[in-house]
This record gives sequence, structure tokens and C-alpha cells, in this order.
Amino acid sequence: MKKLFVMLAATTAMAGCATNPAPAPVAIAEAAPPEASAPAAPKPQLGSFGFDQAGMDSTVLPGNNFYQYANGTWVKNTPIPADKSNYGMFTLLDDLSKERTRTIIDEAAKDPSNKIGLAYSTYLDTAAIEARGLAPIQPWLDEIDALSSNAGYASLAAKAGRRGIGGPVGFYVGQDDKNPDRYVAQMGQSGLGMPDRDYYLSADPKIAATRAQYLTHLTNVLTLAGRSNPAARAKAILDHETGVARVSWTRTESRDATKTYNLMTVAKLRSSAPGFDFARYLADSGVTVTEVIVAQPSAVTGIARLVSRAPLQVLKDQLLVRTLDSYASVLPAAYDKEAFAFYGTALSGTPEQEVRWKRGVNFVTGSLADDVSKIYVERYYPPETKAKADELVRNVVAAMGRRIDGLTWMAPATKVRARAKLANFTTKIGYPDRWQDYSALEIRAGDALGNATRAAEWAHNDNISKLGQPIRRWEWGMTPMTVNAYANFGMQEIVFPAAILQPPFFDPNADPAVNYGGIGAVIGHEISHHFDDQGAKYDERGRLNEWWTDADRKAFEALTKQLVAQYDAYQIFPGANVKGAFTLGENIGDLAGVTVAYDAYRHSLGGAEAPVIAGTTGDQRFYLGWAQVWRRNYREANLRQRLITDPHSPSEQRVAVVRNMDPWYNAFGAQPGQTLYLAPDARVRVW
Ligand SMILES: [Zn+2]
Repeated sequence: MKKLFVMLAATTAMAGCATNPAPAPVAIAEAAPPEASAPAAPKPQLGSFGFDQAGMDSTVLPGNNFYQYANGTWVKNTPIPADKSNYGMFTLLDDLSKERTRTIIDEAAKDPSNKIGLAYSTYLDTAAIEARGLAPIQPWLDEIDALSSNAGYASLAAKAGRRGIGGPVGFYVGQDDKNPDRYVAQMGQSGLGMPDRDYYLSADPKIAATRAQYLTHLTNVLTLAGRSNPAARAKAILDHETGVARVSWTRTESRDATKTYNLMTVAKLRSSAPGFDFARYLADSGVTVTEVIVAQPSAVTGIARLVSRAPLQVLKDQLLVRTLDSYASVLPAAYDKEAFAFYGTALSGTPEQEVRWKRGVNFVTGSLADDVSKIYVERYYPPETKAKADELVRNVVAAMGRRIDGLTWMAPATKVRARAKLANFTTKIGYPDRWQDYSALEIRAGDALGNATRAAEWAHNDNISKLGQPIRRWEWGMTPMTVNAYANFGMQEIVFPAAILQPPFFDPNADPAVNYGGIGAVIGHEISHHFDDQGAKYDERGRLNEWWTDADRKAFEALTKQLVAQYDAYQIFPGANVKGAFTLGENIGDLAGVTVAYDAYRHSLGGAEAPVIAGTTGDQRFYLGWAQVWRRNYREANLRQRLITDPHSPSEQRVAVVRNMDPWYNAFGAQPGQTLYLAPDARVRVW
């Protein structure tokens, strides 16, 4: 369990591809013009002004479906590669990051003492992995087998957690929401092998079918591991986890910063949740603490009760399956294929597993991230990009300030504090100014499983070492190769890794309107998170602390209720709608983000009208820039999973947020009766 921050987009699990039939990866720069010729104006990478007009579908009216109008031809002509669950601008740039990272690792591999090269080549040696069979993991499997009492289970679950294997509860060390100058132990519900409680409890036939595939998967893993009566034992695991699902909180409840802040003594936790030895669990997780924040107390209590009543064999079998799935990529192919068949194909709809080298890049980037990152940024992150991005951030922050000043629903005293909060933001752009030191992490030739285990243990030890230490203000939650961005409330920061500062998000040679609609809106989105339904609960010092008046809060809630209803109404599949309350934070981020980015764009024009380029006005280019970054095709299973687990709305609905903005109506002439049309008083304006 890790609750760190809110992101721009969900990370793409099991994505990546080698032979890519979709558009070629975008190049980082145009070739230099021949020396003799007059200096030509630098050209944007996409289209004539930074937007790919060839990807539009002008047969669709913007007022009916702005996503299809801006992106329809791209959508129609872009297949999803066989090894991806979805494909779009994020995945395209992610592929580019992987190609570049591979070059870095390949070069490092020439030096046999280099850890990143060694970790990579060992991971790629599947023949060696096959030859060793289960031998490398056998001591741990024996430990599971030897478990003889439910009391001993807490200790074993803690050891599993240190290896990155999911147990009945999740544990990590993080910032204390109400005292962000200290770290504190945190715990939450866990114990499910499927992505959400809905997969266990929903009556939807599609989800019931996935549940049946999960049962098959459990049976297959137990069979591979040579266990007797695998079908009956698989059913027992599913039954146990269904009980866990029943007591688990929904994702909507779990994203509520107020409800999930429950600081208690370990003694109180033990007495309120008997049946699981929390003191033992914490001690064997490597920490000595007297208090802990429990995110979902009733769920943790319920899970403790279920664990105390469960037959020991069920707990052992569950831990065995979780282990073999967690480490499948460094175990013999049969385990790897079985894990992919369920987690890749059944759950996400991805037909083929990605090639080994891409997975190797993922492994090295995940375990020795900063050793790769420092080379990446030297090579692929021009300083000019940072300077230009800095300027954009300043302009969008200033626009947010003007928005706050102009609010009609917020009390003047509250506005002063909102302004103070904005002034305290830290912006991180590109890459961290300090790097992690992996000298304590041992990488051994020929020991792929050991390397993976030690990397997980290193990450765990690094995390728990934060207790009692000053807050690592320098630390990043994403690598510079990541195509994403995030906001962290306790740190009062907005963070933009190097890899998102590329086309189509940002191109120094594109028309400014497109950049404001792309990266400008992304910047606005991250700023706005600090003022969304959860972020707004944190004050100007990053504390979870009520700083609004009751009237402010009521007015805000009335506005956001309208937004919940607007997104609740989007039906994606029969019976499967966007969850308005679950996605509220992200939708506020989009609504406010695009709004302030537009203000910043207009402000940058200094009162002049932008030129018409390729038949488009500046305002049109701004909104097209927003639509372009969300080009994405999904496989059905992936989109269904996202509706349940992803706090972001699907791409098409993210683009549709423009229906709340008056200038969009002026730019594209949306009319009453068209699908996206909202009467002026039905348009939601929060910030
Ligand atoms: Zn977000």
C-alpha cells in the first residue's frame, strides 16, 4: 500500500511493446538545417503548429463530441499493439523513454562491475532462470509451508511485505497529514488478489466472468506448485478474499483524506482488532513505533477477524500464490505465463506479453531508478526545456491567483489563506537535485530472483529508515523517464518529470496556444489538485486542517455536487458509468486546470488577438491542444477495470470538460441540442 500523491493519469501497468505498428515514436529534435541555407524557422514536431490536424474527424460536430472531432481519424487509424492494454500519447512517449533507457543500460552493460548492466543482463537470461527452477525461492516457500499457527502468520506476513508481496494489511512510512514535518507508520486494508472489492462482489456478468477466470488462475498456480486438490483450495482462497472484499472500504471512501486519517496507539489498534498480532507485524516489518495511522479502521478490524478464523491452510495457500505471482517474471516461464494470462489478458485484455527487454528496462528502472535517471537527464533533457517550463508554471500559477481573487463564493479572509497556500508551492521540474545511493543493494550475476528480492527489501528498508528523520523534501515520487505529473499535498508541491515535457504536451517550436492547452493545462491540473475536494483540506503549511469557513465549504460542495452529477451521467458500457464521486478530484483538476491555463494563455497575448494559423484561431488551437494529449484507445477489459479502479475519467470524458467553459462555446460554436451543449447556468465553474 502506498498513498503518496495524486497523479495526472493512471500508470500503465503491463504496457509496452517492441514491434510497434502504431505511429513511430516522436523524435526529440528536427535535424539541423544545412549550414549554407538561411536559418529556417524551427518547425514543431506535430502538424504545422504543434497539433496533428490530420488526426481530426471534421465530419463530427465539436458540440456533439469534441474528442472525436479533434482526434477521430487518429482514433480510427491507430491500432493497439498486441502487448498493450491501451495506446495513446502517454504510451507513445513511454515507449520512447524505454528505448532511450535501453541504450543507457546497454552501454552500462559493457562494464561488468556496473550494477544496472548486471541487473539487466541477469534479468534477460531466461535460460538460467529456467534451469534453476523454483530452487532460488524454495527457502521462502519452505518458510510458508512451515507455518504452524495463526499467531505466526503476522510475522510471516511482515516478512512477505518486506519482499514486496501483498499481505492482509498494507504498511509503509509516510508523512503525517496533520503534522507534515514528521514521518509516521501507516497501515491500510489489503489482501485482495484482484484489483478491487467490486471484482469479488459485483453481479455484473462481465465481472463475474473475470471472477471465474481468477478462480482458474488460483487453481493453475496451485497446480504448477504441485499442491493436491488445487480446485478446492483455490475456491477456499476466493471465499476468504470475498470476505475481505466485504469488509473493505470502497475506493471513493478510501480517497477521503478526513475519513482515512485515524492516528492511534499500537495498543489501541491491538485491542480494537484482535485476531492479528499487530505488534509482532510491526516489529517484523522492522519498525519500533507506538502509534500508527490506520486508513480504514473498520476494514482492518474486519480483516484481523477473518484472518483469525481462517483455516491455516488457506492463509498459507494464499501467500504461496501471491509470492509466485509477485515474482513470476523471475521464475520459470510457466509461472510467468500464468500470471500474465490473468493479470495481463483476463484483467486488462492484453493478448501478448511484452518482449523481455522492455520488461528488463522496467525492472532496472524500478530497482535502480536513480542510477539510470541521472544519465537519462544528462542526455535527453535540454536545459532550455526547463527554462521554458519554469516560465509556463509561473504564468499558470499567476492565473490561478487571479482566479482566487475573482471568486464570488469564497470569503475574503479565506481567499487570503488560499493565496498564501499558492505562494508556498514548490515546483519540481525535470529531475531531482539529489540522487538515491544504492551501494547497500547487492546485485549478483545469475541470480535474477535474488536481485528482485533484494531490490524489494532495499526499497522497504529505505522507506522505514525515514522514521524519526527530517522530511526528504528533495525526494521525487516519479523518475524523470515517467510520462506523468503529480501533486503532493503534504509537501505542497507540483512535480513534472522530464519525459512529460515533450510533444504533444510541450514543444518549444509549437504555437503557444497548443502548449498552453497541453502542458499548461497539465500544470493547471496539478495546481488545482491542491484545491480539489481533498487537496483543499490541506492548509498553507500542508497540514490536513480545516481552514475554510462553513459557508465556503457549503458553497464549494454545492458546486462540486454538480460536477459529480455531470460525470455520473456518462455511460461507457451498458450498466457501467463513470463514478462521479470517485473521479471528482481529477475532474476538478481538469476543470480548473484547463480554465486557468486558458486564462494564462490569454494573459500571455497581452490583449492582442492571436494570429489565424492553418485556418484556426488561437482559442481553437488551445482547446485542440488539450484534446490532443488525451488521444488514446483502450481495450474493453482495460477500460472496464479503469472505471472501477482509476480515479481519472476516461480520455473522451476528460476532453469533454470543455463543455463547462464559455470560451470553448465561442471558439467552436456548440449549439443547444448538441450532445455536449450545456446552458450557461448549467456549466460548472468551481475555481
Ligand atoms: Zn490528477
